[in-house]
Amino acid sequence: MAGLRARLLGWFAEHQRDLPWRRTRDPYAIWVSEVMLQQTRVETVVPYYHRFLARFPDVHHLADASADDVLAAWSGLGYYRRARLLHRGAAHVARELGGDLPATVQGLLAVPGIGRYTAGAIASIAFDVAAPLVDGNVARVLARLFAIGDDPKSTAGAARTWAIAEALVSPRAPGAFNQALMELGATVCVPRGPRCGGCPVAALCRARAEGLEHELPRVSPKRPPRRVDLVAIVARDASGRVLLGQRDESGTFASMWEPPMAERGAPLPVATKGARRVGEVTHVLSHRRLHIEVHAAEGATAPRRAVGGYRRFRWVAMGDLGEVGLATVSRKVLAAAGCD
Ligand code: SF4
Repeated sequence: MAGLRARLLGWFAEHQRDLPWRRTRDPYAIWVSEVMLQQTRVETVVPYYHRFLARFPDVHHLADASADDVLAAWSGLGYYRRARLLHRGAAHVARELGGDLPATVQGLLAVPGIGRYTAGAIASIAFDVAAPLVDGNVARVLARLFAIGDDPKSTAGAARTWAIAEALVSPRAPGAFNQALMELGATVCVPRGPRCGGCPVAALCRARAEGLEHELPRVSPKRPPRRVDLVAIVARDASGRVLLGQRDESGTFASMWEPPMAERGAPLPVATKGARRVGEVTHVLSHRRLHIEVHAAEGATAPRRAVGGYRRFRWVAMGDLGEVGLATVSRKVLAAAGCD
């Protein structure tokens, strides 16, 4: 264990990427970065991280912001549930804890939206607590280093991976150690084609010794995403504004704004005259593949009540589209109708 830690820490000190959240010990900034990095690439996150912290520089600013403002700042980053949970967590920290994030894993886990991974990350990186963490990168590295045959997402595989991470975390430099494991997974021990020749722990790796580095981790095959066919209406009024609907509070796009849409064959939530098909958009989510027929209309009548999965509707000037929470798929639909 000691040899593994020393090699990893030495390698990390020399080879780590210079990332903005590695220049701070502010627990709030680290929390924001960790939430953004879940399921999202580093290069995508960097500009969002800077903009988000400029707009909500501390937990009080985030807690006091409206849900619309938070979703607008998250717009395009995907997995919008993360933003809603972060917002809810910030409100809890600001109102119940005086604005200070707890410095223990147990305390952090009591904050709404903070799970085991994020608690481990904040505790170890911001507070030097010897807490383990396991994300996709760490699970892959540990599966190879210790030749774990179980799928890391299975109950048994996850339990084993977390137990190893816990035994392994450096008591003296837990934050650097956890980041080193994640960095190794992101840059060397990558999913396909691990670069064992440049790996600082190759001599200690069981998968490498047994010729299993391309076989591990063993993952169960994913189900292909389900196809969903939709029709979207991009309606403009006489002054060029676009009609958007705000989604209900549940589902993948909860509270986000979008051109009104419905499954093909179902009634549309808005009434239009002379709508014409102008294009088609496809967009893949984790479990669904959306095929959206885009129709453009001049004018539309939007209901004044909640309908078709929408809480409300509003006309938005083209220049203000950047100020509302729009998912990437909605931007694609608007672009297909010439509104970008
Ligand atoms: S030797 Fe290869 S498989 Fe083992 S940890 Fe290093 S990169 Fe991963």
